[in-house]
Parts: sequence; structure tokens; C-alpha cells
Amino acid sequence: MLNMAKTIEVKKCSRCHQEKPIEQFYGEKRSHCQDCEKEQKREYHGGLRGKAAQALQDARKARRKVEAETGESIKDDLTLPQVALALSSGECAYCLQDIPISERSLDHITPMRYGGSNTFDNVICSCKSCNSGKSDLPAVLFMIQSCDSWANKRLIDRVASRSNQTFYEAFEMLTESVKTYFQKQAEEAKAQAEGGV
Ligand SMILES: [Zn+2]
Ligand SMILES: [Zn+2]
Repeated sequence: MLNMAKTIEVKKCSRCHQEKPIEQFYGEKRSHCQDCEKEQKREYHGGLRGKAAQALQDARKARRKVEAETGESIKDDLTLPQVALALSSGECAYCLQDIPISERSLDHITPMRYGGSNTFDNVICSCKSCNSGKSDLPAVLFMIQSCDSWANKRLIDRVASRSNQTFYEAFEMLTESVKTYFQKQAEEAKAQAEGGV
């Protein structure tokens, strides 16, 4: 009797709910069977790829819109693998929370409207709520208002490593975009005031 009970060790997969021999799991402690783990991996990569393709399309569309509105041309050499890489981090650059794939969005660190380009060193993964809260604000300005200093430092680190600059050069670049922002805001306000007369 004892021997019989030992013959086949089975485990129930918590995803497909099938009882399967233990060999069909990657380890005794895994709760999903190998088939299910493979399936999940496929879904994950499929999901991320689809998300990245959409994000790239949206970013190019946004770039064309800003170009049409401002008459300025914006540098754009962002590729699909770069977008996928940015979104694969899964961590919002601003609130530092883990975000599920469906909630990830691609944020332009310096908005294209205020001198930012559509390039790898200017995009970052953010949650939808931070992205819409940030809107057209330059990253540093948004972060001073809404994020803790750790998140701030981390973003500058990331920008520095992507653009091959030191921390301080990256910081200066980002603060420069705050100046541009206020300059353009002032110009827009002035144009509006003059137009309103
Ligand atoms: Zn399963
Ligand atoms: Zn966030």
C-alpha cells in the first residue's frame, strides 16, 4: 500500500486545474504546470509587444500633431524594440509603482511641445494616472510637485545612462526644458492676449 501511494506524485495546477505528474511542473513549488507557464510567457510577450506597437504609433501621431501645430520639426528615431524595452521595466518612473502591462504608457520626459524629441532618451514607462497628471509638464517640474526625491533622482539617473551623460549633465538638460516650458508658456499667453484685443 505504501509503495502504491508513492508511485505517481501528482499536483494540481492552479491555472488549468488539471492534476498532472510532478515532472510536468518546473519545480515542486511552482503552482502552474509547464504548459501553463509557457502559455503565460507567450501572453506576456504578446501583450507587451502589442502594447509597444500601439505606444509607438501613438507617439508618432503625437509628434506629427505637435509639428503641425508649432511648425517645428521634431527629431524622431524611436524604434519598436526601444519602446518595448522602455515599457518592459513595468515600474512607473514617477510614482515607482509596479504597473500591469495594460496600464503602462509611454511618457515623453520632456514634452515634444516643449523641445523634447521622440527618441529613446526621452521616453519612459509611466502609469496612466501619472502620465495624464503630468500632461505637458517637463518631468522635473512635475516631479518637484508630485513625486518624492528618490523617484526624481532615479529618473535623472536613467536619462543620464540613456544619453551617455553624467548625472549633472542630465539634470541640467532636464531643467533646461523647464526654462523652455516657461518661455513658451509666456509666448503663448502673450499671443493669446494680443489675439484677444
Ligand atoms: Zn496548468
Ligand atoms: Zn505612476
